[in-house]
Amino acid sequence: MNAPKEARSGLNQAIRNAMLIDGEWRQAESGETFAVFDPATGEEIARVPAGGAADIDAAVAAAGRAFAGGTWRAMMPAQRERLLLKLADLVEQHGDELARLETLNNGKLLAFSQGLEVGGSAQWLRYMAGWATKIEGSTLDVSVPFPPGTRYSAMTRRSPVGVVGAIVPWNFPLLMAVWKIAPALACGCTVVLKPAEETPLTALRLAELALEAGFPPGVLNVVTGDGVPGAALVAHPGVNKITFTGSTEVGRLIGARCGQDIRRVSLELGGKSPVIVLDDCDPAHAIQGAAGAIFLNQGQVCTAGSRLYVARRHYDQVVEGLGKVANATVLGSGLDPASQMGPLVSSRHRDKVMGLIGTGRSEGADIVAGGTALDRPGYFVRPTVVANAACKDLTLVREEVFGPVVVAMPFDDPEAVLAEANRSEYGLGASIWSNDLRAVQRLVDGLDAGTVWVNTHNIVDPNMPFGGYKASGVGREHGRSAIEAYTEIKSVCMAY
Ligand code: NAD
Repeated sequence: MNAPKEARSGLNQAIRNAMLIDGEWRQAESGETFAVFDPATGEEIARVPAGGAADIDAAVAAAGRAFAGGTWRAMMPAQRERLLLKLADLVEQHGDELARLETLNNGKLLAFSQGLEVGGSAQWLRYMAGWATKIEGSTLDVSVPFPPGTRYSAMTRRSPVGVVGAIVPWNFPLLMAVWKIAPALACGCTVVLKPAEETPLTALRLAELALEAGFPPGVLNVVTGDGVPGAALVAHPGVNKITFTGSTEVGRLIGARCGQDIRRVSLELGGKSPVIVLDDCDPAHAIQGAAGAIFLNQGQVCTAGSRLYVARRHYDQVVEGLGKVANATVLGSGLDPASQMGPLVSSRHRDKVMGLIGTGRSEGADIVAGGTALDRPGYFVRPTVVANAACKDLTLVREEVFGPVVVAMPFDDPEAVLAEANRSEYGLGASIWSNDLRAVQRLVDGLDAGTVWVNTHNIVDPNMPFGGYKASGVGREHGRSAIEAYTEIKSVCMAY
């Protein structure tokens, strides 16, 4: 169960025990630190500074100087592009070390750290680097008739929004940080990043690589800690925009505070994404698709397919097949190549997931696979399948579990399943499994979800906007939407 020694070796140099403020590695003003754990064993692997309001003050001031002082904002876009490309190269060059560090700290399978976190980070950095030189406005015809004889020429320019406070969760620590940092820096903003308290290590290593790439001091700052520095960042008058990924509960607090201060804000929040298997779908394909949709990253994915609606004629077969997949899954350290599923991120999160499974049991959920935690060190929860033919209102159907728990429900009528799929406070993702073009198109039109996948699930790309309907968030990341999110539009009107 323990990670193979060779997979962990050599990581000590990669573990930073300080935060980056104004180009310097610093301890918290308070001198306090907190422990970071390996979720596969429960062992402490590092102590990092417990940042507080004073550290946020210092980081925001540094980011403000780097922005307003002109270092970054005034830099030629092509130079910003080159630095981001250099950082992408460094992420790739140190890919093996970053991936092992991510798995050690977060628990996910090493293959996912390599492919999704490191590979994705390099891909996003390069894509956003390209945008740095392509930010544009438009020229506008205006029809102002006075004073007589005067004509006007108008245009729009996009200027960087300023100092960005970026707060990220623990499920994809490196990638989520890059999703914020890359477009913000490409646009000419400077950043104070607050990683999740469970998983600060790859963000710190990324910041170290940014220094090596040549980013000027203060352009990227990282303050480690929990919600305390997070809240201080949100409330800081020197921050022009907050970009947050995390729970809907914390998102509401952040949205309220930013509303009060009229601070720009983007929120990427929770989800309860439906997977809809139509009548024409091959059940074997559906089983594979549904398993991937929910069990990827131990279900700790905001778009995890946690509500599975299956056309009645395939329901028993799909539930049975999914149960077999769940029961056959080998749990173990993400650093062990034999593992097929790693641990959850923390003991607190494991207890939350087990608590929700317990609530499901008491409400009559029919657990056909899993439903238990492993009785050994580490925070392992078995992949869990609930066959919920009878009660539609289980807590497990309504609330985000953020773990490897799927509730399968049969349906007879595609119109009715659309209503069921939309009967959620969330609207982040959804997938449809079918080759019936007409039925698919109707569902695509009707689903309240920021992303709808067809015959796939959880696919993201830097060119594809990502975000939520309803309580899943406000705003979109990636593509042109990201550039819009980190810039202000300025109208310029010239008389001649
Ligand atoms: P969380 O909301 O508890 O924490 C997220 C971050 O916010 C952490 O860095 C945390 O320290 C910080 N934070 C906590 N309280 C704060 C406060 N009062 N003010 C400012 N910052 C504060 O979420 P989590 O448990 O780390 O992550 C899981 C959640 O994230 C799930 O709900 C999941 O769906 C969501 N998520 C959403 C997306 C998306 O793109 N929509 C992606 C990944 C995760």
